[in-house]
Amino acid sequence: MADKCAICNKKIETTFLNKINGTFIGKKTVCSECQSKYKNKLKDELK
Ligand SMILES: [Zn+2]
Repeated sequence: MADKCAICNKKIETTFLNKINGTFIGKKTVCSECQSKYKNKLKDELK
């Protein structure tokens, strides 16, 4: 299962444990790069 980052639209890879290389914000997925880039401003970016 591959998803796209809701901010940069980059494809988010999944690990062998089927975890995404990023995080879920509500129903959206955000890649680890944007996660570290925006941190606690993530929810504002996703409005
Ligand atoms: Zn991203």
